[in-house]
Amino acid sequence: MYSETTPLSKVLGKREATKFRTARGITTVGDLLGYWPRRYQSPESNLAAATIGSYIVAVAEVKSATTRTMKARRGRMLQAVITDGSKDLEITFFSAHGHEGKLVPGTRALFAGKVSSFNNRLQLAHPGYSLLSDFDRGERRDLIPIYRAVGNLHTWTVTECVRMVLDLLDETPEAIPEPILDRRDLMDRTAALRGIHTPASTSEVDAARRRMSYEEAFVLQVALAQRRARQAQESTKARVPRPGGLLDAFDARLPFSLTDGQREIGETLATEMARDVPMHRLLQGEVGSGKTVVALRAMLAAVDAGGQAALLAPTEVLAAQHHRSITAMLGDLAEGGMLGGSDIGTRVTLLTGSMPTASRRKAMLDIASGDAGIVIGTHALIQEHVSFQDLALVVVDEQHRFGVEQRDALRSKAAQPPHVLVMTATPIPRTVAMTVFGDMETSTLSELPAGRAPITTHVVPEGKPGWLQRTWVRVAEEVAQGRQAYVVCPRIGDDDEPDDDTEIFDADPSSGVDGGDADPGDDGGPDDGDGDREAPPRPLASVHRVHADLVANPALAGLRIEILHGRLPAEDKDAVMRAFAVGEIDVLVSTTVIEVGVDVPNASVMVVMDADRFGVSQLHQLRGRVGRGGLPGLCLLVHAGAPDTPHERLDAVAATTDGFELSRIDLRQRREGDILGSSQHGVRSQLQFLHVLEDEDLIEAAREDAHGVVTDDPDLTAHPRLAALVSARVDAEQAAYLERG
Ligand code: ADP
Ligand code: MG
Repeated sequence: MYSETTPLSKVLGKREATKFRTARGITTVGDLLGYWPRRYQSPESNLAAATIGSYIVAVAEVKSATTRTMKARRGRMLQAVITDGSKDLEITFFSAHGHEGKLVPGTRALFAGKVSSFNNRLQLAHPGYSLLSDFDRGERRDLIPIYRAVGNLHTWTVTECVRMVLDLLDETPEAIPEPILDRRDLMDRTAALRGIHTPASTSEVDAARRRMSYEEAFVLQVALAQRRARQAQESTKARVPRPGGLLDAFDARLPFSLTDGQREIGETLATEMARDVPMHRLLQGEVGSGKTVVALRAMLAAVDAGGQAALLAPTEVLAAQHHRSITAMLGDLAEGGMLGGSDIGTRVTLLTGSMPTASRRKAMLDIASGDAGIVIGTHALIQEHVSFQDLALVVVDEQHRFGVEQRDALRSKAAQPPHVLVMTATPIPRTVAMTVFGDMETSTLSELPAGRAPITTHVVPEGKPGWLQRTWVRVAEEVAQGRQAYVVCPRIGDDDEPDDDTEIFDADPSSGVDGGDADPGDDGGPDDGDGDREAPPRPLASVHRVHADLVANPALAGLRIEILHGRLPAEDKDAVMRAFAVGEIDVLVSTTVIEVGVDVPNASVMVVMDADRFGVSQLHQLRGRVGRGGLPGLCLLVHAGAPDTPHERLDAVAATTDGFELSRIDLRQRREGDILGSSQHGVRSQLQFLHVLEDEDLIEAAREDAHGVVTDDPDLTAHPRLAALVSARVDAEQAAYLERG
């Protein structure tokens, strides 16, 4: 008998085992059982959907069958008509051999093949088929699982292999404690695996899925609960700020009053940092809600308590901007130790990978000596041999680009674990927060500071005559009123890869959460390949080309138009951003290096070229660059697609400025695994069964249960199977992290 870890080669023939391994990376019994049917077909399904070129899988009955000798060739040919009661279809085999005994009138079978036409009639030439009498094994089943093909193995061959494995499988060890199974009304694992692969009814499939999704959520939540438990055991220095320090001085000179949310979260952070257990808090907030001020106030409190604070930004552009704006906001408070500086002041130091060696060395000295109270940097802060004098607080800006491991690496820079504040630019749904940031407490900034002007968004189909030019005229009008514009492109040069800093959304519809039935290869047909993609009407817009076009455009004559992208030398990037910030550039043509955090209040227009190439949340971020300074913002989403067809994603972005709503849409459109930052290479993506949006209740239940289990048995000594799954999961996460680099 076998377990889930038994190699498939021990159960199946060599040929099949090799197919599974090479085509799908499936090597064990467990892997195969994790290869779920793509859908289930009822035996009553009809043939009406057959159209020329479509790939169908259908249950039908042989109505008539004839064989005849062919004139041109030796041998006999079999022609049959199959029916599902609603429609007939011809099937043809050019050699009757091996088929004529089986395909006799009255036989029911599952047929699969590509529909073609012969003499103006639809037919299936050489379909694959499997007799239902082989399938039913005596018991009538209402559902037939349809698997994606594995190499050239048809769905029913996959079915046979799965059944062979299920027949020989021992009771599989249970990871979910018995009382939880009872309380949550979940089937045991073995029953669930059977329910997935050989269901008698749809409700059995549903119950089986629910159980498997629960297990996945539970394992993840146990891992997170263990992490929280470990964190709660850690101890660190309590950071109690002295009154009359930097924070008070800063508050006194703030040019605006804090929003209620900013004030409340500030108090929470202060309280938690004053404890001797390290803080782990996630701050999420709508674009433009003022997260930076919240973070800066926490950093000042850390300095007032005698420690240092580090702010980690995802890109050099953003690090440099934070450095500029924080230094500016602090004024003489950032001139500690300097002539004319405030005597309570500190120093704000920038450290990035591309800084010249001399300034980097200087920065590292300031960090090590403690002269730099506030350190702002990129990955360089993690990667290099940077040591802090006394790191009290780490702020990670725009978390979605940083993993748990990177947070850990930075935490390891301090003698005692520092307090950690993570900020995410994209507001995320609660269950995602529970799943991805489940080891942290969450605060949300939901209100925008008063006086924000609204942003209007329009979709601009380039195919409509005059619309694109009208876009540039609008840009010129804004500039004429003293404002500035961003133009964002998906690429740097014409034959270029996307910018290193750019995360391009894959426009291939088959990569959506549900690829639909458009891709025949996915529907049990052999030779599963990429569906044909439509050729784009023109090459993707690039920074260089658009810049050249705009410079040559009479509507923009005399405007100062410059470029910015991730591959410019660091000092050029910095110089361009500075010039844009002080209004010396009217139109900035760039890649998404400006996606997050860039804050130039005078910029009022955002044009996104090939906007359909970007994700929903990304567009929301980009749009958040305008409408910051009390000026109404305008966002124009240009796409080269057909002019009159609605564009779901772009229309969604145009329809709302609610980041939470858009984040849900984004999640639905992408594979959730991608959002969660997991590798898709493996057989099982990290969250295979769980749909973080639909399974909210399940995730909450799993979280509660996981908390209980970990509280009673922190090391899971009484739950060996669970312990094994949890550590496999943590390993997989680490491997994915290493892969990403
Ligand atoms: P985000 O949350 O997107 O990171 P920022 O921190 O960049 O937002 O803040 C956006 C802008 O709003 C900045 O120019 C900042 O100075 C300003 N701001 C922050 N808080 C307030 C407030 N309470 N009132 C007015 N303006 C504010
Ligand atoms: Mg920000």
